[in-house]
Amino acid sequence: MTATAGRVAGKVAIVTGGASGIGESTAKRLAQEGASVTIADVDEQGGKRVTAEIAAAGGVAFYVRTDLSKTPQIRRMLERTEARFGRLDIIFNNAIWFRHGTATELDEKDWDLTLNVGLKAVFLTAKYGIPIMRRTGGGAIVNTASVHSLVSFAGSTAYDSAKAGLLGLTRTLAIDFGPDVRVNAVLPGAILTPLWDRLEVPAGVRRRYAKMVPAQRLGTGQDVANAVLFLASEEASFITGTSLVVDGGMLCRAE
Ligand code: NAD
Repeated sequence: MTATAGRVAGKVAIVTGGASGIGESTAKRLAQEGASVTIADVDEQGGKRVTAEIAAAGGVAFYVRTDLSKTPQIRRMLERTEARFGRLDIIFNNAIWFRHGTATELDEKDWDLTLNVGLKAVFLTAKYGIPIMRRTGGGAIVNTASVHSLVSFAGSTAYDSAKAGLLGLTRTLAIDFGPDVRVNAVLPGAILTPLWDRLEVPAGVRRRYAKMVPAQRLGTGQDVANAVLFLASEEASFITGTSLVVDGGMLCRAE
């Protein structure tokens, strides 16, 4: 597919957390549909691998090592993207770092890091990225929230707070920066990514998650990437301030 034929042809996108999982799938999908993509991730090995794979498939990608808990690194990543590609059209805020624990167990520094990477970084990419977007006519922001924005697990104190907060931030940004900047969220359900291996989710739990949803399977990064591509593209030009659940039907049943 050439850069002029795709659904986001000629656009420039930033994908945070693009070195793995949902971010990797989405970076590749956006590149396949004609966008030039900055991979902003703290994982240098993964970021360089994804960048090389996109280039090998005929796409355009640029890795900028970015720790999203550090404001100067976010600003530098945005500046380097504009310097490299001359514009910014799409920001996919997707990276996460988190630690589980009830409020009495969780360390304050782990709360801070989860909220910094999962919520504050989205404020900062808007604060410093929207002015860049507006220099060339605006754009679209998509935030990875979660079914955990709406329902919770025991001990998911910081993660669920960040993910619930993202829905409010998504709405406010949509109101404040329309009509030229649209802002939406995706809410993934159980999506099989390298995160599950890092969390050592047992095989039995994976089977249970697959069985409990009407789709009768776990989701893939590609399932979420397709939703992000839609929200980031002109096909969603009348959609802003809302969220799209990508969960195989997890939230739709009451039992
Ligand atoms: P993943 O672990 O595969 O990818 C997360 C990426 O974030 C990694 O590449 C990691 O290096 C990066 N990251 C972590 N800390 C960072 C930091 N300080 N700065 C920059 N990058 C950092 O996870 P995933 O499953 O692909 O999750 C992606 C998003 O989807 C997250 O927001 C997650 O909360 C959300 N989500 C995932 C699921 C699921 O079941 N996998 C479900 C709901 C929501």
